[in-house]
Amino acid sequence: MNQKNIISASNNAALKLKVLAKEKERVRRKLVVTAKEKERVRRKLVVTAKEKERVRRKLAVAAEKLRLKAKQLAVTAKNLENANIVARNALEDLGIENSKVEMARAKEEAILVSIGDGLFATDKKGNITLINKTAEKLLGKKSKEVMGKVFSEVILMEDEKGVPIPLKKRPSSMALATSTTTTDPTYYYVRKDKTKFPVAIMVTPVILGGKVIGVIEVFRDITREKEIDKAKSEFISLASHQLKTPPTAIKLLTERLLGGKMGEFTKKQKEYIDDIRSSNQRMIDLVNALLNVSRIELGAFTIRVNEKNVCAIVQSILDELKSVIDKKQLKLKMISRDMNAMLMLDETLFRIVINNLITNAIRYTAKGGEIRVECKVVNKGQTLGGNLLKESCFVVVVSDTGYGIPRGEQSKVFTKFFRADNAREKITDGTGLGLYIVKSILDHSGGLIWFTSRENKGSVFYAAIPMTGMRMKAGEKELMS
Ligand code: ADP
Repeated sequence: MNQKNIISASNNAALKLKVLAKEKERVRRKLVVTAKEKERVRRKLVVTAKEKERVRRKLAVAAEKLRLKAKQLAVTAKNLENANIVARNALEDLGIENSKVEMARAKEEAILVSIGDGLFATDKKGNITLINKTAEKLLGKKSKEVMGKVFSEVILMEDEKGVPIPLKKRPSSMALATSTTTTDPTYYYVRKDKTKFPVAIMVTPVILGGKVIGVIEVFRDITREKEIDKAKSEFISLASHQLKTPPTAIKLLTERLLGGKMGEFTKKQKEYIDDIRSSNQRMIDLVNALLNVSRIELGAFTIRVNEKNVCAIVQSILDELKSVIDKKQLKLKMISRDMNAMLMLDETLFRIVINNLITNAIRYTAKGGEIRVECKVVNKGQTLGGNLLKESCFVVVVSDTGYGIPRGEQSKVFTKFFRADNAREKITDGTGLGLYIVKSILDHSGGLIWFTSRENKGSVFYAAIPMTGMRMKAGEKELMS
């Protein structure tokens, strides 16, 4: 190869090298740009990753919140469901109860309407809301004539003399005003045809939430009872006269004989007459006791009260019994703590009570024993002889040191014809009616009787009359006339 060719080849090579260098430079520059771009992209990616992390965390928090909310909602939903079940059950129960109440109401109404006694019910204003068939029949009025009307305007009431009973005194008005259950048989109802009939009335207030919302009055025609009562009273009065007359005559005659006005008797004759006298006295006591018992059982005891000095009455009974007490050589102690206490008493009945208690103390105490009679006021709330007094009372306490009543027989002491075994053995005569009469009198007059006793030690009997006096129990007024 010549020099020329060599030069041109080297020039070409140099040119090529230049071109290659340029190309290399371009490629290098391109590479630099690409690296920068890569870096930028990397940075961007880092930022994106951080952002992604932040968003992820945010999402996680939000998700947790949602989870909690969902949990809460689930609980609420459960509670709601439970509440729903409870409400549903309550409604079901209510439904059942309602129908039960409805049934009971229907049943009660059916009973009320069909009972044999007359019945009407009123609201609190006294308007009649219900009247049964018997009442309609008794009064001669139809239900439509009285329903919704004030009872006192459509059911007229009078006393025995035909005087209208004022509204305030009508048993139903009294029950509405005082919410008490009243019974009073002394009134008469007037029928539609103006005839009248005696009624026994029982009024019961209907109370709701402590307030009277009406009354139910049940009444019965007692015409027949009144007739029977009258017949019984007449029989008792006849029997008392008939039975009492002969022994009263015998008593008078024996006393005359013993008084010596018919001449002197031998000792034996006197003894016989004395026996006749005491047997006759027992007969009188028995007749009196039987009459008292029949009066009690027929409700024929009238309680007529007057203001009396209680201690004075007790003292006078002791005076009457002095000879018997002396005869048995008994020591007697009378303690009057409230000498001047005055009480509304039926003296006859009170005497029967005290006389029985003292006579028993005398009878069931051996010779030489002691009898103690105490009269005193005992205040409400005090305990006496194991009995807590619910109201202030005047109490007569009769104690003795006698035979006492066997423990096993004590529960029967106030029953009719009871006589304890020890008493029967020692004292053969006795009716077993005295304490029954005593208890009946006190029961019927608002008093009380109780006792404590120990065999062979003695007995203590307590008779208490409320300081407000003897009174008739509600509902007995008519029976006791
Ligand atoms: P009576 O005395 O006529 O038998 P009571 O009814 O008065 O009838 O008394 C009933 C019974 O109670 C008596 O028989 C007696 O057993 C007993 N009793 C009553 N009072 C006493 C008393 N003070 N001491 C012992 N027993 C008594």
